[in-house]
Amino acid sequence: MTRLSIRAQVVLLISLLLTAAMALYLTLATRIVTRDKEATVYDVNALVAGAVADQVETTVDGFTDKLRYFGQEYASTPGDAERRAKSLFSADDEVLSLEVDTVSEAGVERAFLFVDADRLSTLNIEREDILLARKQTPVPFDVVRKSGVLLQNASLAPDLALLRLSVVTADGKAIITADLRPERLLRTVNTGSVTRVFLVDAIGRVLAHRDASKVIAHEDFSGLTPVKSALSGKAARGAEQYDGEGEQRLASYARVGQGLAAVVAEVPVAEVFGATRELSSRSFLFAAGIVALALVLAVFLSRALTAPLRRLSDTMAVISKGEYGVEVPVEGAPEIRSVGTALNEMSRELIRRSDDLQRAHNNLVQSEKLSAVGELAASVAHEVKNPMVGILGFAQLGKEADTMVEAKEYFGLIESDTQRANKILQNLLEFARPPEMEMEPLVVNEVLQGALTLCRHQLQMQGVKVETAFGDGLGGILGNNNQLRQVLLNLMMNAGQAMAESPTKRVTVATAADGDFVKVLVSDTGPGIPPEVMQNLFKPFFTTKRRGLGTGLGLSVSRSIIEAHRGTLTAESTVGQGATFIMRLPVKKS
Ligand code: ADP
Repeated sequence: MTRLSIRAQVVLLISLLLTAAMALYLTLATRIVTRDKEATVYDVNALVAGAVADQVETTVDGFTDKLRYFGQEYASTPGDAERRAKSLFSADDEVLSLEVDTVSEAGVERAFLFVDADRLSTLNIEREDILLARKQTPVPFDVVRKSGVLLQNASLAPDLALLRLSVVTADGKAIITADLRPERLLRTVNTGSVTRVFLVDAIGRVLAHRDASKVIAHEDFSGLTPVKSALSGKAARGAEQYDGEGEQRLASYARVGQGLAAVVAEVPVAEVFGATRELSSRSFLFAAGIVALALVLAVFLSRALTAPLRRLSDTMAVISKGEYGVEVPVEGAPEIRSVGTALNEMSRELIRRSDDLQRAHNNLVQSEKLSAVGELAASVAHEVKNPMVGILGFAQLGKEADTMVEAKEYFGLIESDTQRANKILQNLLEFARPPEMEMEPLVVNEVLQGALTLCRHQLQMQGVKVETAFGDGLGGILGNNNQLRQVLLNLMMNAGQAMAESPTKRVTVATAADGDFVKVLVSDTGPGIPPEVMQNLFKPFFTTKRRGLGTGLGLSVSRSIIEAHRGTLTAESTVGQGATFIMRLPVKKS
């Protein structure tokens, strides 16, 4: 995996931290709010269910007492029942009818029925409607006798909502039943808030609901979990979350009397947490916005932070390419300033070191050269001696010349020999001059020719034959004549020394074009270079020669000179078959 840049790491870290912090905060906040809201909703539901149950119980108790009282009265004086009924319930205008059924061995028998025609007419209800309701929803006398009190939904389609309350008298000899308008009970369940309240009878059928159509349809709620719990009789009040008609609801229930009815107050979870959800989704959006903003800021911040670092690395890249002395502006944070200062210091130090190195190298080249001059001394002396002998001879002959014409001829010969000696000495002086790296356009074959004049005699004295095979049409090069001559001299002398014991002693200097390079090959017929020597050939101070005969610097200096010319110097050899040194110098681009 590629390592991320510091900038990317900063951005990533900031965004990760921020996202994690936001997510944690929002999750916690949402959970706290949700819990709190849930608790509140349960409390409110329980409160509503309890209050409604109390109200229903009070209402039903009031009617139950009155109905029992009426039953008692009826038993003592049945004749005046209608008038009594009217006066007893004059204030309770929801009472529409009243019936007394006597209970005997033979069964239950209707003894009295009063339907309040005045009230019916104000409500636009017919007496037949009441009778039909009786028929459609008959009073289950057995159940009433067992439970003592029964509240029934006696509603009649399509729009007559009706409740029926049946009670058994204290002596158990009569059952009094009243049909009631359910308005008062409906009002209690019509809370108008998100809380839905409804009242069910002892078997789970609806008695009161804010949706009157459910009451008229006698809807059965016995399957709903809170209704089951309320009617199972385990606890009079309770709360639970359940799945009702495909939605989750939070419900509280409260029983009315001893299983007479039950009140359920419930709220759909979706409605409870709607606001919370909206809050959290908005908060998430808000958080996402903040994270995005922070990201943008982080990108800018990290760019500002890493810009000086980028400048540092750019400068380092320049320095590593050999352009010493380049410096960066010292700016930015203290840490980065100190790196900048150190880098500038390093850059300056590199110049110093490089200068030192160059000086050391020049010294090395110079000493190696002087050693070569020493080795060449015999050759040079011989080369100079020949013209000297000539000069001396011609001078003596000149002295004895009879005519000026003859003398002039000798002067001419003296002049040419002097020039020859002068040229040789000049060559040597030039070669021994301290190194300088001035490059000039050169023709390789000419450089080689010049070097050969310096060492040819030396090699001849060693019995070495020098052969040349110069190629044509080689490109010119850019180089330092003196230094290239030094390299060639070194290779030639090494070859001569290597062939001291060889039966055939021959050095061949060949040149050829080689793409963008000029190739120079110096081959000998010596013993060749064994692998262990080959490995160390170009290392400074590596020599196999006796003390005083070799410095071990020749080849390493030669290679560094050729590399300074952007060329290469390599060696090839098969032991027993001589050695070849190959020099490649780049052709000067015109
Ligand atoms: P020096 O000549 O002072 O020893 P050089 O660096 O010129 O230093 O040469 C290093 C060694 O390389 C020599 O000692 C010799 O062993 C080996 N060498 C150089 N040229 C040849 C050659 N033409 N044939 C065989 N060995 C050679």
